[in-house]
Amino acid sequence: MDTAARSLPSLPAGQASVAPATVRHARPGAQHARLREQALELLRQAVAAHPGAVVQSSSLGAEDMVLTDLIQRHGLDIRVATLDTGALHPQTLQLMQRVRQHYGMDIEVWQPPRHAVVEFVARNGSDAMYRSVQLRHACCALRKLEPLGRMLQGRSAWVTGLRREQSAQRGTVQARQVGSDGRAKYSPLLDWSLGDVWQYIADLDVPYNPLHDEFYPSIGCAPCTRAVTLGEEQRAGRWWWERDGEKECGLHGQRPPAQADVPAAGSVS
Ligand code: SF4
Repeated sequence: MDTAARSLPSLPAGQASVAPATVRHARPGAQHARLREQALELLRQAVAAHPGAVVQSSSLGAEDMVLTDLIQRHGLDIRVATLDTGALHPQTLQLMQRVRQHYGMDIEVWQPPRHAVVEFVARNGSDAMYRSVQLRHACCALRKLEPLGRMLQGRSAWVTGLRREQSAQRGTVQARQVGSDGRAKYSPLLDWSLGDVWQYIADLDVPYNPLHDEFYPSIGCAPCTRAVTLGEEQRAGRWWWERDGEKECGLHGQRPPAQADVPAAGSVS
């Protein structure tokens, strides 16, 4: 399989730029039905292997909405959890509430320690992430890795919406990987294309972030996410000012997040 990062498909001729993401992107691949069955089967395997101990770490992006829908539609014993970094778009916060209402479910929301965020911003400024890669990583460690570590405590498995074609770094991910701490990470959508993701969302009327309609294929924190233009890679809008290096925040690194990853507030300059 070609694991190189792929750019977004061009709009069909004459299609207005205001067309929703479901119209722009929904294109089932030849294996779409089989991919759906495989994703469900992998989720079931995770539940069977880790009864009562599986969590979906959801970014509330399109891929994660597909997974949440599969979990809820099939009544799988998998908790859905998300990180509220304190820097999310209003649309993302509103989506949390829409998901609760749509599925009649609860979502765990994990936040960084408020005092540490306040101290970090006071020391480094609210625009620290733009000034150096080191500061950006420190911000991600504080706002994302630390709460993720707490989210995963007591859970022996987690589910993510990673897809191989999202980036070259994600091309080497396996559908089931075990971290150095023994925790299993399941990625049921690994071989799905962007078209497969949006076909599922369109077919089943899955709620999604309206920012996807505004050319945000990948959505993170507001200061670190922008829309992409035609021909750009799917994650080009994440940390767009960093020309080199991986477009990742450490959530899916080989090493599981731990308290030791998080710098003391203000300790990075
Ligand atoms: S994505 Fe940006 S705002 Fe969010 S935690 Fe990372 S550096 Fe901070």
